[in-house]
Amino acid sequence: MKTQAAILVAPHHLVIDEIELPALQPGQVLVKIAYSGICHTQLLEVRGYRGHDPYLPHCLGHEGSGIVVEVGEGVTKVKPGDAVILSWMKGQGANVMGSIFNWQGKKVNAGAITTFSQHSIISENRLTPIPSAFPLKAAALMGCALPTGLGAVLNTAQPKPGSTLAVFGCGGIGLCAIKGAQIAGCSSIIAIDLIPAKLEAAVSMGATHCIHAAEQDPLEALKKLGPLDFAIEASGHPTAMQQALAAVRPQGGTAVIVGNARQGQTLTLDPKEFNQGKRLLGTWGGDNQPDVHFPQYCELVQNNRLNVSSLTSKVYALHQIEEALQHLETGLVLRPLVDMSLPCA
Ligand SMILES: [Zn+2]
Repeated sequence: MKTQAAILVAPHHLVIDEIELPALQPGQVLVKIAYSGICHTQLLEVRGYRGHDPYLPHCLGHEGSGIVVEVGEGVTKVKPGDAVILSWMKGQGANVMGSIFNWQGKKVNAGAITTFSQHSIISENRLTPIPSAFPLKAAALMGCALPTGLGAVLNTAQPKPGSTLAVFGCGGIGLCAIKGAQIAGCSSIIAIDLIPAKLEAAVSMGATHCIHAAEQDPLEALKKLGPLDFAIEASGHPTAMQQALAAVRPQGGTAVIVGNARQGQTLTLDPKEFNQGKRLLGTWGGDNQPDVHFPQYCELVQNNRLNVSSLTSKVYALHQIEEALQHLETGLVLRPLVDMSLPCA
C-alpha cells in the first residue's frame, strides 16, 4: 500500500512524500499511526549530530500510537482494530529487523519501528496494546518520553520516600522524571533549566523548587537547598552531566544520565567524586519492560495521577515536521506531536 511519510534523504534534508509499503513479513504489523512524538533523538538524526548515518535515505520516528490494520504470520500479541503504543523499547513478541520501502523507485530504509508516516510496518515486539478508551494522544508519549523519564526515577534511581532529587533539563523527559519523583514520594524535587516556561511546566508536574540556570549557578543554588540524594540529567549537555554528579551528596548520592549528547562529545569528571562514594548510573531509556511497565503508566494516567496535557499541547501536521523540529530545538514546545489525521498540504 501507499502512504505519506517523512524521509530523511541527507542531513538537514527531510522530504514528505508518498512511499510504497511492502507486504508484511512474519512477525510484522501494519499500523495506522494516530500520533507520533518527536524527541531529541530524531532532532540529532535530522541535524546529522549522531555521526555518520549509513542508512540514508530512511524513515524515522520512534514513539507513537495507532490502530492495528493487519498482522503478519505468527503475530499473537495484537489483532486488527487494537489500539497500540509504538515504542523503540523492545517488549515481548517477534523481533523483526526492518523493511525496505519504495520511494519513486528508490529504496528507503526503515528500522523495526518508524512513526513519521500515516501508516507504518512495525515489529511485533515494539507494540503494546492499550484499552480502546485510552486517549491516543497521551498514548503517543508512552513510546519514549514518559517511560524514559518515569523509569529513570522509578526503575533506575529508585528513591525512597522523603528523598531529595534534582532534574537537570525540563523537556519532555525531564518533566516526566519530575512526575516520577512525585510518585515516588520525594520530599524535595528541584527543577533546573535555562528557559522560564519549562520551569513553570515543571511546577505543574510536581517540582517543589526551581533553579533558573541562566541567572544562577545551579551548584551554588542546590547547595543552599541542602544535601541532594539524586540528580537526573535530562538535557543531553555534558556540562549538566558533570554538574549532576557534582551536585549529589557524598556517601551514597546518585546521578543518573539520561540525555543524549552529540556524537563525539565527551564527559570530563573529577575522579574524587567517586572516592567520596557518589554513584553515576546510565539508563537504557528508563530501564523499562514495556509489557510490565507501560500498562502501569497507563493506569496512572487513567487514575488522574499523571496528567500529560502540558506535554501534548502542541500538534503539527506531517508536512509541518521541520517546523516542529525547530520548535523542539529552540525550546518553544516541550514535546511536539504529529497528528496524522491533519491534512497534508
Ligand atoms: Zn525518543
